[in-house]
Amino acid sequence: MTRPEWGPEPKYERVLGYPGPDVKDFIVLAGPCAIESPEQVRAICREIAKRGITFMRGGVFRAGTYPPERPGLQLDLLIEWKKIAVEHGLKTIVEVLDIRDIELLNPYADAFQVGARHMQDYALLIELSQVKKPVTLKRHPGSTLHEFLGAAEWLLKGGCKPILIERGSSTFMNHVRWDLCVSLIADVKLLTKLPIIVDASHGSGRCELIEPLTLAGIAAGADGFLVEVHPNPAQSLSDARQAYPLANFVHLYGRARELWQLKRNWEETC
Ligand code: PEP
Ligand code: MN
Repeated sequence: MTRPEWGPEPKYERVLGYPGPDVKDFIVLAGPCAIESPEQVRAICREIAKRGITFMRGGVFRAGTYPPERPGLQLDLLIEWKKIAVEHGLKTIVEVLDIRDIELLNPYADAFQVGARHMQDYALLIELSQVKKPVTLKRHPGSTLHEFLGAAEWLLKGGCKPILIERGSSTFMNHVRWDLCVSLIADVKLLTKLPIIVDASHGSGRCELIEPLTLAGIAAGADGFLVEVHPNPAQSLSDARQAYPLANFVHLYGRARELWQLKRNWEETC
């Protein structure tokens, strides 16, 4: 009897065969949860560009748990964001929520983010993989390692080389918003050569846990980190509790980079 095509066995040959990116740089994606104003964008661009960071991430079209009261105007902000990013030599990572928006966003996005809720939106993954731009893929808070790698397989199948992001699971624990899965980072590094970064902002929901969990992720093998920063966290329109103060970014970046470098040196001498 032939086995059916579907089944519980993991099937991700492209993921397992992927030779890894050409350049193995420290990956840092920093920016606000929500793009709020040109002033906010300018302050963040100024700070992160000083550190030699390439990509600024930000939410323009938000995947909110509840519908916004004042939708609209986001495209104007996106255009402004892109303009300011270019002035600072930065590239933009824009989350895309809907397959129908890809064309509209494409001129302003140097890379696309697939948010956690869309990890298994295969139509979106197929379409995005055709755009030939970097795609960051966030793990759904309820997805397993195998489902995550299955989603990465869809992107690889279309010719796109994804960067994976671990951003925590839904959990019975109530001291955190989502629970960062450090073991998943270590296992992805054991199984594959895909780049994976740690997002301790969503992976805890608490600003004061961002540094220790970012370092934990890097110690487990993460190739970098994502952090939500804000010039004035208390005023953040979205995810204020997990907004990391922009003024402290240099400290977080320095420590994370140092640990990543140390791990890299170990790997090279082993
Ligand atoms: C985000 O990165 O701003 C975001 C909404 O994250 P997630 O999709 O992981 O919830
Ligand atoms: Mn957020």
